[in-house]
Amino acid sequence: MARVALVTGGTRGIGAAISKALKAAGYKVAASYAGNDAAAEKFKAETGIAVYKWDVASFDACAEGVKKVEADLGPIEVLVNNAGITRDTAFHKMTLEQWTAVINTNLGSLFNMTRQVIEGMRARKFGRIISISSINGQKGQFGQVNYSAAKAGDIGFTKALALENAKGGITVNVIAPGYINTEMVQAVPRDVLEKNVIPQIPVNRLGEPEEIARAVVFLAADDAGFITGSTLTINGGQYHT
Ligand code: NDP
Repeated sequence: MARVALVTGGTRGIGAAISKALKAAGYKVAASYAGNDAAAEKFKAETGIAVYKWDVASFDACAEGVKKVEADLGPIEVLVNNAGITRDTAFHKMTLEQWTAVINTNLGSLFNMTRQVIEGMRARKFGRIISISSINGQKGQFGQVNYSAAKAGDIGFTKALALENAKGGITVNVIAPGYINTEMVQAVPRDVLEKNVIPQIPVNRLGEPEEIARAVVFLAADDAGFITGSTLTINGGQYHT
């Protein structure tokens, strides 16, 4: 029987590549998104992957959403916490809204989503929880105190949850991508990318979403059961902890 995978923010960017790669690997996949219906409908038409709209920053919306996905596809065995946003500005100008939106979407979502599925995974003695952090959670980034704090939190969340569930067939891992060619990074002006970002990347280019997706498929596999609590850095050699 095909395992069921849910990818949050699975309709665009890195998440879309993850959804497609999991489908190609034989999973029954659900992709969630926040509000870009046009992108979600296009993704669904192109891939045949089921899409669901809810806000991962809301615990109650996550409870409802997970219930719907499980009613349609069956119990979620692979959860990919990928949804994320940026609200960049220098800390001394940062508003409470910019802080809370980023913390709730990038870190709060790991509680909101994982809490819905963990009891079922524990009862079934199998689960894969894979979250997408960032290089900027490892090293910090100018203008991203909110994002760096949230993404560093994703790593701590992973390490602690991995310990609690290691005996029960559930692995918990986190991927820390460097700069990946998605709309999030395309929002950075091209000349800034070329002058300031790409020269910092030893491989001398942005990463592609598929290069993150293949690592998710690797960590999700049934025979990846000895990998837990780990942070997988995928950044073209830019930074190592
Ligand atoms: P995109 O902006 O391209 O896509 C983000 C996806 O997340 C969309 O599907 C979006 O839905 C969804 N999303 C955003 N907010 C919410 C929310 N509140 N509830 C539900 N879904 C939401 O992002 P990327 O693909 O670039 O990034 C994916 C992940 O990778 C993020 O966690 C990001 O922080 C991380 N990352 C990205 C890097 C990069 O270089 N791109 C580098 C390191 C980490 P909708 O389409 O409806 O807006």
